[in-house]
Amino acid sequence: MQGRCLCGSVTLTAPDHTEIEVCHCDMCRRWAGGPAFVIGFKASDLIIEGREHITDYSSSDWADRGFCKHCGTHLYYRMKTDGFHTIGAGLFTKASGMLVTKQIFIDEKPAYYDLANETPVMTGQEVFEAYPLTDIPDPDAGSLSPH
Ligand SMILES: [Zn+2]
Ligand SMILES: [Zn+2]
Repeated sequence: MQGRCLCGSVTLTAPDHTEIEVCHCDMCRRWAGGPAFVIGFKASDLIIEGREHITDYSSSDWADRGFCKHCGTHLYYRMKTDGFHTIGAGLFTKASGMLVTKQIFIDEKPAYYDLANETPVMTGQEVFEAYPLTDIPDPDAGSLSPH
């Protein structure tokens, strides 16, 4: 499937994927102004064109967040360990079949919204326990990444 930033300087090509994960953590909401609706991809499955238009911000010891330096579109959250990317679902033109299937950092969700989607939820503690940062994540493993 195809995606792009608002100004079109950066384009994305990724394998078809329909499962969207929502992160309610403080950092994602501060970065995006709201919860992050993302899809996870191995670096090797992604083609990102227009890299020269991307600025990477090191948001933690374990991850970078990339954005278009011209239009400000938030492009990805990327693990420093294995390059696993989570990319905003809204960047992709395809929307049919996409569905929110998981919510993480539910304990950091503010009270002013609730998603109607019925999905499994994980607290931040549960995410960090399931995906310890001391381990190098298996690039073939699932789509969750600790934020
Ligand atoms: Zn742009
Ligand atoms: Zn997050």
